[in-house]
Amino acid sequence: MTQSLGAIAVSRCDLFKQPPYSEAAGALTRRFLTPAHKAALERLTGWMREAGMSTRLDAAGTLIGRYEGTGAATVLIGSHIDSVRDAGAYDGALGVMLGLGVVEDLARQGKRLPFAIEILAFGDEEGSRFHASMTGSRYRAGTLTGDPTTLLDEDGISMGEAMRGFGLDPAALCQPPPRGDVRLYLEAHIEQGPVLQAENLPLGIVTGIAAQTRLAVTLIGMANHAGTTPMGLRRDALAAAAEAVLLVERIATREGIVGTVGALSVAPGVGNVIPGLVSFSVDLRAPLAGPRDAAEQEFRDGLAALCARRGIGQEVKTVQQLAPCLCDETAQRLLAESIAAQGGRPFALASGAGHDAMSMAALCPVAMLFIRCRDGVSHNPAEHVTPEDVDAAARVMLGFLERLAAR
Ligand SMILES: [Zn+2]
Repeated sequence: MTQSLGAIAVSRCDLFKQPPYSEAAGALTRRFLTPAHKAALERLTGWMREAGMSTRLDAAGTLIGRYEGTGAATVLIGSHIDSVRDAGAYDGALGVMLGLGVVEDLARQGKRLPFAIEILAFGDEEGSRFHASMTGSRYRAGTLTGDPTTLLDEDGISMGEAMRGFGLDPAALCQPPPRGDVRLYLEAHIEQGPVLQAENLPLGIVTGIAAQTRLAVTLIGMANHAGTTPMGLRRDALAAAAEAVLLVERIATREGIVGTVGALSVAPGVGNVIPGLVSFSVDLRAPLAGPRDAAEQEFRDGLAALCARRGIGQEVKTVQQLAPCLCDETAQRLLAESIAAQGGRPFALASGAGHDAMSMAALCPVAMLFIRCRDGVSHNPAEHVTPEDVDAAARVMLGFLERLAAR
């Protein structure tokens, strides 16, 4: 019996959990420009060629497999092939495997569409090695600003050095690729949230991706003896940070806004010394830029006030600011029609997580299809999808392409 498209995509993701496609055995870690990334691209290249695709690697390490059509336009289908540390098998990789499976199905039928299809496997969405996320999609969309090649990984290796080791020319990264006649970018991705499971649905049509701001906050107090410094004479940076964390939580109680302090470090970090220096992250997201910006301003004002009251110095740096991305309405309708044609119930939802589609929106209309994942868990080895759900996604993607071709 031949395997379903869903089962094949899932088994390929499962294969990629282990070395050489993971940096270590027993846990999946596949960071940008590592030997594991290289091995994954080599295997993908093999599959793409077997399906009659031509392949190339762009300056940002994105593997592109091209399946020719009868017309000049191109439809892009992609996601990322890199992972966080100790990751799940499906975040990103599943979207790449689904794109590949869809083309394999067309190739088996000897079917050519009025547009070429390019499958994109972005190498750096997560930013788990150099802390510059979405390098691949931002390069492709021509919106890569600054020079990420000087960024260092934890071993002190620069992105430029790693690129050379990978056979890439770091200087080429400042030269955006030709835009080309791109009609649309489609990304299938696990939901990374619990909504579809709660709705008892395998698939969701993404309406848009939340606006996001990431801040790096440093609070400067005065380290001093924990025994001899009276409470009224202290400048405790950690006590101020604790107030700031609760401020973020309070701001995020407003409709549609989510706020998180996910990293915090204390110096000197000794039990009998008053904390003199604290740095922490703030992540604020909202469906639209306006409420997100209002939340950021409220945080900055509140932080300034509490630091003034406590005699604490403060510095707030914007690490990343991502505009919200709205998915193409026509594409959403075509996805809904394809889901209905498979006997499913079209269901729309917004994405709180960032995706390559966000960056690609600067290049062309974008569409996203979410796949139910068990308990909404991601960035965790427990990440799980069923072959049946993934197969439904493959069928909907094929139906979507047919509808797009008929327009
Ligand atoms: Zn992802």
